[in-house]
Amino acid sequence: MIACLERFVHENDAESKPDDDVSSIRKSLDLQGSIESGGKTGIAVKDFGGLYSVRPLALIKPSGAEDIARVVKAASLTTHLTVAARGNGHSINGQAMAEGGLVIDMRSTEENHFKFLTVNGSPYIDVSGGALWEDVLTRCVSRFGLAPRSWTDYLSLTVGGTLSNAGVSGQAFRYGPQTSNVTELEVVTGKGEISVCSETQNPELFFGVLGGLGQFGIITRARIKLQPAPDMVRWIRVVYSEFEDFTRDAEFLVTQKEGESFDYVEGFVFANNDDPVNGWPSVPLDPDHEFDPAHIPQAAGSVLYCLEVAFHYRNGDHPSIVDTAERRLLGRLGFVRGLKFQLDVSYVEFLLRVKRAEEHAKANGIWDSPHPWLNLFVSKSDIVEFDRTVFKRMLKDGIGGPMLIYPLLRSKWDNRTSGALPGGEIFYIVALLRFVPKGPAVETLVAQNHEIVQWCIKKGLGFKLYLPHYKSKEDWKRHFGNQWTRFVERKASFDPMAILAPGQKIFKRIHHNLN
Ligand code: FAD
Repeated sequence: MIACLERFVHENDAESKPDDDVSSIRKSLDLQGSIESGGKTGIAVKDFGGLYSVRPLALIKPSGAEDIARVVKAASLTTHLTVAARGNGHSINGQAMAEGGLVIDMRSTEENHFKFLTVNGSPYIDVSGGALWEDVLTRCVSRFGLAPRSWTDYLSLTVGGTLSNAGVSGQAFRYGPQTSNVTELEVVTGKGEISVCSETQNPELFFGVLGGLGQFGIITRARIKLQPAPDMVRWIRVVYSEFEDFTRDAEFLVTQKEGESFDYVEGFVFANNDDPVNGWPSVPLDPDHEFDPAHIPQAAGSVLYCLEVAFHYRNGDHPSIVDTAERRLLGRLGFVRGLKFQLDVSYVEFLLRVKRAEEHAKANGIWDSPHPWLNLFVSKSDIVEFDRTVFKRMLKDGIGGPMLIYPLLRSKWDNRTSGALPGGEIFYIVALLRFVPKGPAVETLVAQNHEIVQWCIKKGLGFKLYLPHYKSKEDWKRHFGNQWTRFVERKASFDPMAILAPGQKIFKRIHHNLN
């Protein structure tokens, strides 16, 4: 088997016949699934970012954990091969790619697990690491009337892909990120071993993999906490002209007890003008809503802020209960009266809201264009300065897509996981979700992202990149700070030859095998 793989590696660049090689590699690995090479590796060559393109040696569509373990073990017996799990390829900077390596299409395993269970009376669902969150949602709601507690805004992402980062949305202030809402994982490590792990069983692997950027293992199954799904959501947007008022109210809402706040809290910045994408028209939830700029205070600056909240309810709830709860919560907030928008939608429709935006963007041809996105976590202590320089000056005209900003609570994150957070209990997620047509503008925008990050470093802001992408070891060390040693130790334990997730560019493949 090793000889066959080595031959495949060395001969592939020359005038070998890829189809023959693929068939021999398939035979030697004896996979249940399939292996594709050449032109058929298409999906593995690109990602949502559209900024990078690298060619793998082959794309593997495994049938399950055993296939994945065989592939990783085989790679470990070579001197060079790396293995990248590809979720749905929604990374921005090539994180799920493997140049000259083996890319595993996790979507081919999405149907492997879907099992409801109760543990100590609480409901859970076991799903495949390659399952899309949107399928987890629709199946859990339609079959059991239950749903996971913590989401991402967009659900065409895989369970394994978001758990390798964090998985953050407007519920995270209450339940923590998605990584705080799983209790057991099945993982294929970089040694090609299949391990089940949890807080009590192989805890170092369990916490390492959560937020671990794919460095320690490939998640093949995850056990996710469930709760009763509401039927309906009252979805509300209110506008602020002053950043201090916006942050005060957002922080107030995320620090209230359950039952005394909304069920979802997010926010975004928009340009104080009538630009259809970046300005006032980006706020209303429904084409029938009208944004009347006459309400904007005279003293308002170049940008405005929108607090987006939502309240769950059941079909059987009397409308007055929902109205009273809404009035009670909104009554305490200092938004610009007259600039409030609301819509009642089903819970599933609410959670699939970005899917609608995706359909729209696809119709306009901007979904498949490059996305030089930048995601950061910024400490509460530095968010005013960030707003003053980045939003009010550098990005005052908008970015051609949403500029999200909302507070999260560090105490809802488990510090045993691998993710890196800035200091302080309250920090903000800032997401610059740029949609741009292909062309020179892309490079300018990548450069602007770089400028923002460099400015944060120079000013000594408390920040971390979310979905980080660095190229040098020094940058990675700075990113992880005092967690770097633990990260390196976990790598040595679970992927000692640095086979996994080479697209993250943290560790270089060790060019010899340890066997
Ligand atoms: P991929 O991009 O395929 O992979 C990401 C990384 O994880 C790679 O390093 C890959 O090797 C590794 N990986 C993939 N699967 C596995 C696995 N099973 N086991 C181990 N490692 C694995 N994030 C949020 O937190 N909140 C949001 O609201 C949000 N919204 C988004 C909206 C859009 C439109 C997009 C494009 C992205 C959004 N993201 C959001 C970011 C998203 O969570 C990450 O890009 C995530 O990595 C994408 O998941 P994926 O399944 O496509 O993973």
